[in-house]
Parts: sequence; C-alpha cells; structure tokens
Amino acid sequence: HAKINYEPFRKDFYVEPIELAEMNEKEVDELRLELDGIKIRGQDVPKPVVKWSQCGLPAQSLNVIQNLGYEKPTSIQAQAIPAIMSGRNVIGVAKTGSGKTIAFLLPMFRHIKDQRPLDSQDGPISLVMTPTRELAVQIFKECKPFLKALNLRAVCAYGGSPIKDQIADLKRGAEIIVCTPGRMIDLLAANGGRVTNLRRVTYIVLDEADRMFDMGLEPQVMKIVANTRPDRQTVLFSATFPRQMEALARKILVRPVEIVVGARSVVAPEINQIVEVRSEANKFVRLLELLGELHDKDEDDRSLIFVNQQESADGLLRDLMRRGYPCMSIHGGKDQIDRDSTIADFKNGVVPVLIATSVAARGLDVKQLKLVVNYDCPNHMEDYVHRVGRTGRAGNTGTAVTFITEEQDRYSVDIAKALRLSKQPIPPDVQKLVDGFNEKVKTGKEKASFSGFGGKGLERLDQERDLAR
Ligand code: ADP
Ligand code: MG
Repeated sequence: HAKINYEPFRKDFYVEPIELAEMNEKEVDELRLELDGIKIRGQDVPKPVVKWSQCGLPAQSLNVIQNLGYEKPTSIQAQAIPAIMSGRNVIGVAKTGSGKTIAFLLPMFRHIKDQRPLDSQDGPISLVMTPTRELAVQIFKECKPFLKALNLRAVCAYGGSPIKDQIADLKRGAEIIVCTPGRMIDLLAANGGRVTNLRRVTYIVLDEADRMFDMGLEPQVMKIVANTRPDRQTVLFSATFPRQMEALARKILVRPVEIVVGARSVVAPEINQIVEVRSEANKFVRLLELLGELHDKDEDDRSLIFVNQQESADGLLRDLMRRGYPCMSIHGGKDQIDRDSTIADFKNGVVPVLIATSVAARGLDVKQLKLVVNYDCPNHMEDYVHRVGRTGRAGNTGTAVTFITEEQDRYSVDIAKALRLSKQPIPPDVQKLVDGFNEKVKTGKEKASFSGFGGKGLERLDQERDLAR
C-alpha cells in the first residue's frame, strides 16, 4: 500500500443535531434502553438518532425512505447510522429482521456520493460481502430504489451464475459491488486483473459475518480486505457475535464502535417485580415478613437488601441482627478485602442475608439469590435494573420487592418505566405516584429531570457519596 498513491477521501459526514446535543447522559442511557436495550462499546460513540431527519442524509435518500414507508429508524439503525456517518468502523449486532441492511446502505450511499465519479479504469468504491447468493440478491434489491434516486450503479456477483455476465456489468462501471467472497476473488483475477480492481474501495461491508465465518469464508474475506487501502471504512453486521469472530473483527476493524441491540431485555422475565408504596415507618416490619416467608421455606435461599447510604446499611444490619437474622453488609466504606470475604460468605451460605449499597453489589452473581429488596428506593432506572438483576440469574426465578414512599414520587417515574419496558403491570398506587409527580411537573412545582445529578446517573452519585463518608 505504501507504493500506491491513494487519493484522499472523506468519511465523516455527521453533524449532531441540536436536539441530541442537548440530551444529557442519563437521557441518552434511557433512550438506548428504550431502543431495545442498545449496548455500546468504544470511545466517543454518537448518540442514537430518533428521526430520519437527524441522520445527515441527502434529500434523495430521505425521499426513497419515505416512499418505502419506513417511518423511523429501527433500533440498530438509530445507533449504527450516526456512528457510520461519523466515519467510524462499526460492528453491529442485532437479530434477523431488525433492519441491518438499511443501516449500512444509507451511510454507504452518502459516502460514495462524496467522491469524484468513476473513470473507465476504476473499480467499485464500495464492496458489500455476504455469505450466500440469496443474501447478495436481497441486498442488491434493497439498493435498487436508492440507485435510481442517487444515480449510482451496483453489480451483484455470486458463484453459480455465468461469470461473463458479471464481467460485462462490471466493465460498464459500478460504484457498488454486492458479492460473495469467492466470486469476488474470481472477478479480481479474471482477464489478468483487467475486469475490476480494489484501488478505489473505501467502504467495505461484511454482512452476516457470523455465517461467513461458519461457512469457512474467512480466508477469502481476509484476502480481499487485505488488498484494499488500510484507511478505508469497514463495517461488520451480524446476528450473533461469537468469540472466535472477535479475533477476525479485530484484524480488520480499527478502533471500532460496537453496537449490540436486544442482547437482554430490561429486566429478565424470570424476575417477578413487586413495587409497594409504604411509609418509612412500616418498611421494617414488611421486610421481616418477606425474609420470614423466604428463609423459613428453604435454608439455602439468599436475599439481598439494598439501601442508599452506608449508615442505613449499618443501622439495618443492627436491627436485623437483633431480630435474630444472621446478616452482613457491604458498602463503599469497607475495604476490598473485607467486601470480598463478605461476598464469599454470602455465596457459601454462611450468611443468608446481605445488606448492600448499589456500588458495592455491582456484578454480584449468586445463583441461590431468590429475593432482592429495595429497602430504599433506587432513584434512577439504571440502578433499579441493575439491583433487580442480581436475582433471576442463569435462568433461575427470583423476586424483587421495591419499597417506595409517597415522598419519593419522583423516583416512581423511572420505576414505572422499567416495569413498562419489561412488560410488567404497574400497580395502581404506583401509577398514582407517577401521575401525581407529573402533575407537579406540569404546574411547575417540580422539575422533570434530576438536574441535581448533572446527568451523571446514580452510579457516579453513589460512588461520590460513598467516597465522602
Ligand atoms: P436484517 O438484515 O437485520 O435481518 P433487513 O435489513 O433484511 O434485516 O430488514 C428486515 C425488513 O425490515 C426488510 O423488509 C426491510 O425492508 C424492513 N425495514 C428496514 N428498515 C426499516 C424501517 N426503518 N422501518 C420499517 N421497516 C424497515
Ligand atoms: Mg441482513
């Protein structure tokens, strides 16, 4: 590649719309949760878009989308399009039927349109590789209305059909080639390399990468990719992302943004979520009831009780011990060795009840954990989801009981949202808190967002609080 004088090209076309720029981290986290639980990895990942108009697409593309009747981007499109439009290498994982094709096609057309027209010697600008003929045909068809609107040309090339037709198509010139890797190699070798070449390729798509991998097409894919300019943009889409594929991806995608959609629902359906509106004064009695019900039944069951502050953890520990419940507590005020040994005791069943703050219980995975009690109501949806998700691990069932007081009506909004997103009914008295709080927001008595947290989310807040003690 050092010997070839490649022309410069542009791959960053994205300008963040003002509505998105104004969203804080908490709002973006929630939006991703709502968009089928988008998970991202990588640095400076753009926020997901919610409308086609936010994608930075040309009017011709927007018209075609409208004619196709696609109202708004699907979840994978919402996150992948701004990332690809920013020039990033992207790994997109989402189940079949989630709209991955459009997610790589729309930015691809924009990318191609930015470049000077092909001259007679030029090969394609964009290479879309897919494992099978059927998929190649399907993608090709999906391109068609856009090709017409944008005045672009594509060739569809796969094994098992006469290569001479495909050679003729390529010779007429095409900005896009949708192909299976084997046939692409044949075409590159055809007529002593005069049919087509990879010199102008700046955008590569590996679609259904998991199937390409399963079918043993990796060597062909690698061979083609290695012969394109190293500063190209590469995107990989797949329904699954097996570990062995990561190695391949790492070889051909520099500093990628990873996007996974719908890996897990908000709260697993195995978890029975109960939310109770209670006064501060009757929480403790109710907790004793819950612990009694559980631990009288099965000696091996564990329960985890969440509080918001270290001193509450210590206070509750004292009260429970007095009632004869063997329990321990973990929070940020204890050193790591202490915490580790407490967690080990909890896992081994030395103590069946553990009291914790959110930060201290992060990642806790105990199979026998049957009950989570949010003794103090979590004040953020992420935190609720994380706490509740400590039970119901590995397909086991679990129960999560959350206490909320009437004074905590502002937290009811997030909890109701989590219930709704995990398709659980919202108890009427919780709904009443939500309605009451929303009414206060409307009349200006309360602010809707948690402005006091500066959008950092509870995790940071809890950490800061624990550090301060
Ligand atoms: P995948 O590659 O993820 O399996 P496809 O890209 O084949 O999914 O898309 C599945 C179907 O959804 C196709 O029929 C496509 O036309 C349609 N589709 C794609 N994007 C949208 C959208 N934003 N709104 C509605 N339908 C869409
Ligand atoms: Mg697909």
